[in-house]
Amino acid sequence: MQYLFDAWTKLTPRLKAANHVLLLSDFDGTLIPIVDNPELAILPPETKNLLRTLAKNRRYTVGIVSGRALADLKSKVDVDSIIYAGNHGLEIEGFGSDFLDPIAEEMRPFFLMLSQALSATLRGIKGVFVENKGLTLSVHYRSVDDTEERRVTDAFSKVTDPLHITGRIRITQGKKVYEIRPPVDWDKGKAIAWLIAKCKESRGKGGALPIYLGDDLTDEDGFKMIEKNNGISIFVGGEGLQSVARYFLRSPEEVTELLKML
Ligand SMILES: [Mg+2]
Repeated sequence: MQYLFDAWTKLTPRLKAANHVLLLSDFDGTLIPIVDNPELAILPPETKNLLRTLAKNRRYTVGIVSGRALADLKSKVDVDSIIYAGNHGLEIEGFGSDFLDPIAEEMRPFFLMLSQALSATLRGIKGVFVENKGLTLSVHYRSVDDTEERRVTDAFSKVTDPLHITGRIRITQGKKVYEIRPPVDWDKGKAIAWLIAKCKESRGKGGALPIYLGDDLTDEDGFKMIEKNNGISIFVGGEGLQSVARYFLRSPEEVTELLKML
C-alpha cells in the first residue's frame, strides 16, 4: 500500500481526466472514529458540509456503504442527494431505484427472534450488546473486559453454531463485533458493483472513476471490486496493516483532508 498523499501528484491527472467520479465510503472508522457505543457516533459538521458540497458538484456522485441499517445510516449522515447502502448493501437507496434483498427481507422475523435469543444468552456479560439491524445482527463487545471476551465467543457460538453449520446464517467479523447475515451471496463488493453499474446506467454516457474508502475486514470485498474496475481503493488505518487496497490514509481526520482536496 502507498500513502495516498504521497501518490497525490500521480492521482490528480486521473481525477481531472475523469468525466465523473463515483465517490463511495464506509462510515464508522472511516468518516468518523470508532466509538464504544455506535448509537453515540456523530458525523462532524465539517465532514457533513464537505459531503454536501461534493454531492452538489455535478462531477461527483457520493455514496455511503455501511454495515449499519439503512434508516440508522441515513439519520447519522443526514446529507441529501447521496446514495445510502445499509446492512453491507442488502438495502440500497439511490439512483431513483431502491434495492432490497428479498431473502434478507423475508428473514426479518427470524433475526428478531435470534437477537432475543442472543441477548438472553449474553445477559450477565458486562459491556456486550446485541443490535438488531433488521436484515442483519451485530454483537458488539468493544466495551467488554479482555478477560471476558472468551465468554462472549463461547455464548455466541452456542447460539449460532447450529444455524451456521446448517447454512441458515452467515457470520462475519469486524473490529470487536460479530455480524450475522442472511445466507445470501452479497457483500460490500457486490453492492459496489451494483452501484457502479447503476451510475453508468443513470448517466448514460460512459462510466465514472470509482473510489472507495474503508477501514475494516468487510471493506476488503469493496477494495477488490474497485481494483477490478480500475478505481482508487483507500484503506483507512495506516501502514503496516494488511489490505488489498492500493492506497492508505492514517485516520478519519485524513479522510476529511482528502474530501477537502477533492
Ligand atoms: Mg468501518
